[in-house]
Amino acid sequence: MISPQEAQYITESQIAIKWDDGTEGFYTAQQIRQACRCAQCVSEMTGEQILKPESVSEELTFLDWQQVGNYAYNFKFSDNHSSGIYSFDHLKKIKP
Ligand SMILES: [Zn+2]
Repeated sequence: MISPQEAQYITESQIAIKWDDGTEGFYTAQQIRQACRCAQCVSEMTGEQILKPESVSEELTFLDWQQVGNYAYNFKFSDNHSSGIYSFDHLKKIKP
């Protein structure tokens, strides 16, 4: 499993994650918010995305984030959405 070595803010709407395979990914709040797989954003029944990606503003910013166990991050966004748990594998897939 892939793990981050380091994660930091570039701006309030962009973070950089350095992975332990030597790669580095840059993520905007919009990109991560659009990939949210919480029960409000993706149907648990069908796996279909409920969230409309185009409804996520490109001005969206991160309010906070924290590591969850040793496998994921939780992000809090300026639209007050904070229920998404993003496994490192999922994040890596957003920006391989
Ligand atoms: Zn969500």
